[in-house]
Amino acid sequence: MSKAILTDVTKCIGCLKCVSACKEIHHLGADVPRVWDKNDGLSAENWTSIIAKPENHYVRKQCRHCLEPACVSVCPVGAMHKTELGPVVYDSSKCLGCRYCMMACPFGIPRYEWDKAVPHVEKCIMCYDRIEEGKQPACTEACPENATIFGDRSDLLKIAHTRIKENPHKYIDRVWGENEVGGTSVLYVSDINLDFLTYPTKNFDTPLPEETVAALDSVPYAFLGMGGVMLGLNWIIRRRMKLGGGPNKKDGDSHE
Ligand code: SF4
Ligand code: SF4
Ligand code: SF4
Repeated sequence: MSKAILTDVTKCIGCLKCVSACKEIHHLGADVPRVWDKNDGLSAENWTSIIAKPENHYVRKQCRHCLEPACVSVCPVGAMHKTELGPVVYDSSKCLGCRYCMMACPFGIPRYEWDKAVPHVEKCIMCYDRIEEGKQPACTEACPENATIFGDRSDLLKIAHTRIKENPHKYIDRVWGENEVGGTSVLYVSDINLDFLTYPTKNFDTPLPEETVAALDSVPYAFLGMGGVMLGLNWIIRRRMKLGGGPNKKDGDSHE
């Protein structure tokens, strides 16, 4: 059964307990402001954030765990992987550092450890280890308002539609994530428009892998050949640094 998270923007009070719980459970370090950061609070050290909007609206941002993830479709070595339970997880031991996933993601989620000698991509993994053990993610467990809840995707869709039906003057008649990019495992209901969470794209209800594969097909073979050589060299160098116990090697680098 595919699991999901439903966030109700009307219930969130912006207390940041979800953000703190995520940092604690995943041992994420202190956030370092960088000039190239997107202005959304996400970083390699912050896998979820709260975006403040006018009139006391708070919108939680995290990986949407797409049903057909563009990040998975573009990764040349399978470092990104959609699990049967729903989370899209990342295996840093396979990662080439090409950052195609960052360019492909329609929600601008994956972040790079720019200041590490052997950098990795980082993002929310929907607490995959906890879900496998039958627990819920740390962030949903920590929320004092039940503004963000965890469950089977089909059940959460029913809950979302029931809330909208029972409060038609309160909610916008839309469940974000039900159909976007083929559907996502992080859903939202809201009384403000949440389109700012996504990058503009022409067919937003179409699974992006269809578009990314087509785009990759159109890349000249000569460029791909040179790119492949560069990626191969990158991978070999990173691998050697890792095997040599480079300065940033840490236990449990793989998030799978
Ligand atoms: S939101 Fe982005 S990073 Fe997350 S699964 Fe979808 S494409 Fe991948
Ligand atoms: S699901 Fe887990 S990894 Fe994702 S934001 Fe919540 S606590 Fe962090
Ligand atoms: S813990 Fe709940 S109420 Fe607090 S910021 Fe996170 S989602 Fe909002």
